[in-house]
Amino acid sequence: MDLTASHYPEPCEVFRFRPGIVRDVDSRRTVPRTDLLLADPRLVAAERRLGRALVKAAVGRAQQRAREGQIEPGQVADAAVAELPARAASLTAVINATGVLVHTNLGRAPLSGAAVEAIAAAAGNCDVEFDLASGARARRGAGALDALARAVPAAEAVAVVNNNAAALVLAATALTGPDAAEIVVSRGELIEIGDRFRLPDLLACTGATLREVGTTNRTTAADYADATGPRTAFILKVHPSNFRIEGFTSAVGVPELAELGEAHGLPVVFDIGSGLLAPHPLLPGEPDAATALQDGAALVTASGDKLLGGPQAGLLLGRAGLVRRLTRHPLARALRVDKLTLAALEATLTGPASPVAKALAADPAFLSDRAERAVVLLRDAGIDARVAATRAAVGGGGAPGVTLPSAAVSLPESLAAPLRGGDAVRRGELPAVVGRLEAGRLLLDLRSVPPELDELLVAAIRAAAQG
Ligand SMILES: *Cc1c(COP(=O)(O)O)cnc(C)c1O
Repeated sequence: MDLTASHYPEPCEVFRFRPGIVRDVDSRRTVPRTDLLLADPRLVAAERRLGRALVKAAVGRAQQRAREGQIEPGQVADAAVAELPARAASLTAVINATGVLVHTNLGRAPLSGAAVEAIAAAAGNCDVEFDLASGARARRGAGALDALARAVPAAEAVAVVNNNAAALVLAATALTGPDAAEIVVSRGELIEIGDRFRLPDLLACTGATLREVGTTNRTTAADYADATGPRTAFILKVHPSNFRIEGFTSAVGVPELAELGEAHGLPVVFDIGSGLLAPHPLLPGEPDAATALQDGAALVTASGDKLLGGPQAGLLLGRAGLVRRLTRHPLARALRVDKLTLAALEATLTGPASPVAKALAADPAFLSDRAERAVVLLRDAGIDARVAATRAAVGGGGAPGVTLPSAAVSLPESLAAPLRGGDAVRRGELPAVVGRLEAGRLLLDLRSVPPELDELLVAAIRAAAQG
């Protein structure tokens, strides 16, 4: 019996010429050793900046490429330098040219220069909980809290937690108890914010009971009145911040809810979502903290990184007694913000207008001028660029249905991928650029791009077109 034939049906396959294998054996001997590569002055410098682990990983990847025959052994050091990450953290700076001013996937509100400086100043040791004059312990984040209180005089007290979701969890936990575990809320306001984050699930996980009233499109004052009783902890109103229901609808405003609450001795908690502290002339449908409190809400919750234009944070504003109950609850410690957030929040509240505020207010003619200037430069470089009139949106951060006139640089669709992740982006020399695709063109909407980034944007487009 010919075993060879049955067990090795194609014996000659093993010996067939395989360039990869031959080269493997050959190059394994000549691939430079790790310790020699790490002594390259460029990699020594990189190690000081990035740390040993990241540099070694880049060296390892370059050696592997040499073993696989993709590069010559003499090119390994150069390849390792090219493989180095731009920074120790992998987050890549992005120019948000989507025309969505507050884009959750792109880090929501970009911070002002003042906020960035405040973060840098607080990054080392700082007096976040310390009084430098007396040398004694002090109230944590007093500067940020005072700035928030000054910005909304209608609030008797304020607090800051990790985000708006944390603010709601804290309210639902601290304001309910075994005797009064029910939160009365309209079915039209049980919303999903995004990424499967559903407000009713969040509230229910605190142990509170949701007492849903009304229907998806209509809820009346009588619905709330019928549902409130001795087991009610508070009445919750939520701003449906990312959709709009039109047609046969009705909702109950804060003044009416506050009156009902007053009659039953119940606070009204209002999740306004976007974090507008005062009314905004361009966003008449968007609730704000000052008006909500004046209308009788006992507690307002909001995000810091939507229309307020600051860092991720949850703002709590309202009656002193309620805010105290929240801040003294043990859970508050688990939801507290770090010094970097406090620094950025204070600078956002006290410093120059935030990039989001400026983007909202930008004059359409100014946006067209910027687009025109960019297009002239790009055409000079031989790139098929045009100006396009567009509509920008506030985004998941608020003002659903509102669009703002804007201008975009229209480019060939083929530039979308290199703009998101070309070589210069990977090396950290240029930010990534994210726009939107429309009718076979890539639109870079300038309302969501701070004007001081225009030059970088043009440089990034040029690099993408060359690459
Ligand atoms: C965005 C939003 C939230 C969630 O806020 P985070 O700060 O992301 O936790 C909650 N409620 C409303 C109405 C919102 O718009």
